[in-house]
Amino acid sequence: MSGTGLSQARGRFRAVAAEKLADTRVQGAIDTATGRFYTAREKAWAELEDVEELRERARDIRTRTIDDLERHLADFTRTLESRGGHVHRCTTPEEARDVVVGICRRANAKLAVKSKSMASEEIKLNDALAEIGVKAVEGDLGEYIIQLAGEHPKHIIAPALEKTAGEVAELFSAVEGRKVSSDLVELQRTARLQLRNVFLTADVGITGANFGVAETGSICLVTNEGNGRMATSLPRVHIALMGMERVVPTLAELAVLLKLLARSATGQRLSSYTTLVTGPRRAGETDGPEELHVVILDNGRSQLLGGRYREMLNCIRCGACLNVCPVYRKTGGGAYGPVYSGPMGAVLVPLLVGLERAPDHPHASSLCGACTAACPVKIPLHELLLELRRDLVAEGVAPLRERLAFWAWSAAWSRPWAYRVSTRAARLGQRFGGLVGPGRTWAAGRELPSLVSRRFRDR
Ligand code: SF4
Repeated sequence: MSGTGLSQARGRFRAVAAEKLADTRVQGAIDTATGRFYTAREKAWAELEDVEELRERARDIRTRTIDDLERHLADFTRTLESRGGHVHRCTTPEEARDVVVGICRRANAKLAVKSKSMASEEIKLNDALAEIGVKAVEGDLGEYIIQLAGEHPKHIIAPALEKTAGEVAELFSAVEGRKVSSDLVELQRTARLQLRNVFLTADVGITGANFGVAETGSICLVTNEGNGRMATSLPRVHIALMGMERVVPTLAELAVLLKLLARSATGQRLSSYTTLVTGPRRAGETDGPEELHVVILDNGRSQLLGGRYREMLNCIRCGACLNVCPVYRKTGGGAYGPVYSGPMGAVLVPLLVGLERAPDHPHASSLCGACTAACPVKIPLHELLLELRRDLVAEGVAPLRERLAFWAWSAAWSRPWAYRVSTRAARLGQRFGGLVGPGRTWAAGRELPSLVSRRFRDR
């Protein structure tokens, strides 16, 4: 990446974060939503007999699966194909887009209804479908609002959490051509009416996959609005986009993960709709698609297998780490980019797109460890962020002045005489106005301890 590209990538996070920090309305919206999720998760975890034991089991399931991922993916492919489904393994977003576009072309599709899928955001699927004349409409309410606003999701389970009822009413009014009130019941009714016909007339249903069960070849979808069931049972063709790490060996192991997923995400014991789709419609069945395609996406994930960051593949996308993160709760999701945000995004985005394209992400953390403590599968998020910061320095992605400053600090505090000189200089600096240059920027918003006039070593 060129120097200009790098500084643009570096400036982007800060610019978006600064904008959000200055917006009191957005601050209030993020605070209310994340606070509600946070409290609900704590309450739901407290109801469990032994949450730590359950987290350990979940972590063990995810780790064992990822350690033998190819075998589980092969089992999943075999069982799904034996039930009439088609599996497409795709290495890049381009390949995945081409596969979906090809299926839509063969089905002569004009309208696609989508259930929430972060993988489809990853591959920018809506743009690719628009290019071939397929209108893709988001069927998840939050995603639908975001689509009408022409924005990207701001939270992995609550994409529209920064929008107020008034803003949603304006978006719906534009579709209706009349004024829609911001009353919540009215908003829900309007969304239902706007989307109902899309579900009924769509040629293709596109969903994500919370999990793929190798034992049965099933796709597991977890939703609270039933949009997953509508998108998988009404259209002629169902396409499910699944990150390659989302496979789980058996239904019994799926049950363990489901026990934690909804509790960690929204504080529910189970989401309103947990759907298992096992193959397309069979003879004698009345519902379901004629064709079922599962597109398994790699997009950089296989590079993490067996490496220092492999535990990131254990993520079950519950969003709990976002709700506790002091940085996410101030900056919101936009600063992290279009798909993943919060601590999981701060780790995952640089791993998927490259550190040079997301150089600020590893710094979007106070390293307090709240994310690690909230993660149901015990991913050591704050340690991975620290590891990424080491990589920033080792790979020369960190700015030269930052590397020089830390080199000078390390050199000074490794020698007694240099330590003496540096602390003397710091005391003098404090007396005459404090830090200068980048140090002053760093100190703004931080409370620095005042240095004592007589040091311990002087005594
Ligand atoms: S990293 Fe952990 S807490 Fe965050 S979304 Fe993934 S599973 Fe949930």
